[in-house]
Amino acid sequence: MTTPSPRAFVPFVSVDQMMKLINNVGLAPMMQGICDRIEADFRRWPLFDKTPRVASHSEVGVIELMPTSDGEVYGFKYVNGHPDNTADGLQTVTAFGLLSDVATGYPVLFSEMTILTALRTAATSALAARVLAPKGSKVMAMIGNGAQSEFQSIAMQAIVGIEEVRLYDIDPAATAKCASNLEASGLRVVSCASAEDAIMGAQIITTCTADKQYATILTDNMIGAGVHINAIGGDCPGKTELAGDILHRADIFVEYPEQTRIEGEIQQLAPDHPVTEFWEVLTGTAKGRTDARQITLFDSVGFAIEDFSALCYVREAIEGTDFFTPLDMLADPDDPRDLFGMVKRAAS
Ligand code: NAD
Repeated sequence: MTTPSPRAFVPFVSVDQMMKLINNVGLAPMMQGICDRIEADFRRWPLFDKTPRVASHSEVGVIELMPTSDGEVYGFKYVNGHPDNTADGLQTVTAFGLLSDVATGYPVLFSEMTILTALRTAATSALAARVLAPKGSKVMAMIGNGAQSEFQSIAMQAIVGIEEVRLYDIDPAATAKCASNLEASGLRVVSCASAEDAIMGAQIITTCTADKQYATILTDNMIGAGVHINAIGGDCPGKTELAGDILHRADIFVEYPEQTRIEGEIQQLAPDHPVTEFWEVLTGTAKGRTDARQITLFDSVGFAIEDFSALCYVREAIEGTDFFTPLDMLADPDDPRDLFGMVKRAAS
């Protein structure tokens, strides 16, 4: 047996280690840290390689690769979306991801991302709401109380300052689970019997439902002037949450238009319907909320740069800790051109 050199080892963050990292840093501070990182990366948006994610669709779901690079570090995420999985005791979304050094192409981090995706999605929602929602927003309706919902609620509390979350799900068991998980959060939690009830008095409405079809979670008459809508669940072709009329009344903010036009709520609109790229609001080249009666919509589908930012956050956070395992993942022969000899020597 040959002993791999230290270069062969890639830090791997397992599910167990990710949970330990989160509990060590604290969920809210970690989402705040990821949010800061996403904001910083969005501010240098033009630097990044960007492409709509590479999706492989089936009757029951989608499997996607989400790559990007800032020229120094390359990253990608593997992620699926299978709305019927929960009926079989499986999750709708699972993911893992990787960062590499652009200079050598060598991976520098390999990580679970099912949990990390929930943190980065919540951090992105909260960043958008902090910029676009009415100032002083205190109440959020949370429609769809599945895996993402508690993370969304706590990020909005930590980053936007909401004090009350109003929950609704077609499955009351999901609402009960979410309410119970948020018990110690300090949020006022109100469980609602309908989406109409959930949006009462809410300045922010988050929709995060999973259904592989054009669903209508919010109808036009439910949306009053001045609210901010954070639409997360519609994130692949044929899967939307909002009635088309709402889109015509709202100012729409997106991550990467080339991807959102395929996957977001705006797939219901003409391909030239005006949208604003959210990064431009952050850099001040585009306007965000300009008046109190404006309806703002963050049509979130999840973009590769958010995963890149989250992975970079984790790479820094695990330094000097034992929240990772060195993984023997790269063949590293003594003579880089003698891969064959390395394999042969292992047999002797
Ligand atoms: P989940 O399956 O754990 O939860 C979805 C919940 O929606 C379930 O509790 C279900 O009962 C509920 N639901 C379905 N139809 C509903 C309706 N008509 N009204 C109210 N509730 C309804 O899924 P999840 O992991 O929480 O993800 C939710 C959605 O968000 C998925 O579609 C996923 O693809 C998407 N997502 C988007 C991003 C992003 O960056 N935009 C990131 C992660 C997940």
